[in-house]
Amino acid sequence: MADRYAVFGNPIKHSKSPRIHAAFAEQTGEAVEYSAQLVELGAFENDVARFFAEGGKGLNVTVPFKQNAWNMAAQRSSAAERAGAVNTLYQSADGVLCGDNTDGVGLVADLQDNNGVSLKGARVLMLGAGGAVRGVLEPFLAAGAAEIVIANRTVANAQELVDLFGDLGHLSACGFSDVEPRAFDVIINGTSASLQGELPPVPDAVVGPDTACYDMMYGAEPTPFCIWAKQQGAAIVIDGLGMLVEQAAESFRIWRGVKPETRGVIAEVRRELAG
Ligand code: NDP
Repeated sequence: MADRYAVFGNPIKHSKSPRIHAAFAEQTGEAVEYSAQLVELGAFENDVARFFAEGGKGLNVTVPFKQNAWNMAAQRSSAAERAGAVNTLYQSADGVLCGDNTDGVGLVADLQDNNGVSLKGARVLMLGAGGAVRGVLEPFLAAGAAEIVIANRTVANAQELVDLFGDLGHLSACGFSDVEPRAFDVIINGTSASLQGELPPVPDAVVGPDTACYDMMYGAEPTPFCIWAKQQGAAIVIDGLGMLVEQAAESFRIWRGVKPETRGVIAEVRRELAG
């Protein structure tokens, strides 16, 4: 019988995770069954406990429960500890609930392995200061980023991240229009502005002919950030679909000890998105 996994979230209807994990299971021959489960607000802790009590092997956790999962996990990886959020839950051999966060590893893998963008020595502009950005700062610094400027609508939220991660590397905080108008090596849009069809108002000069631009958001159509980056002549423009597949692959590896191949899966999901 297949081992049971699931993603818990609210809303969850449009989750691509079951599709992605089904592709991983088929490709690796692992006996895995993976479903999406809508969890009512306030029911997360009970639903997680029941899932594992009934023999479930592992969970992905998405909006709005990543912090609840962090609180529930009795053991957390260092990535999860600093991220303040858990997107991957499983039990150790002796039944301890363990939490990890694979978003940062996923983004670094998509940039470096799939798109040839090296973070070593890079000057990075990070737009946004929410949960997603918090999850990627440590992996970015570990991958060798020389400097990260965190620009956000609410500067205090960016400053909070500088205070939290400043011991790990060269970080600074500012508002969008205060970003120094000089080309960065890598620009990440980790805001949810694209959801509202908006663009963080940074100076155009932050994009140069060698800049790689990445929007954590993805969809059937190019995001406003990706359209803008192309117009500014960025060397590479990427959306967040690869990050989604890579963070799923890292969860799969944690659970099964097998790392699936991702490129074919990214291409398949991309084709399905385009309809
Ligand atoms: P949060 O709600 O935690 O943070 C949202 C961030 O966006 C904050 O910095 C907020 O600024 C900023 N923001 C919101 N609206 C606007 C706007 N109109 N203009 C400028 N800035 C704005 O969200 P997350 O960090 O969880 O997610 C951010 C994005 O990353 C989402 O689009 C999400 O879909 C995507 N994501 C993609 C993943 C993937 O695998 N591809 C994984 C995780 C996230 P302020 O602080 O001022 O409120």
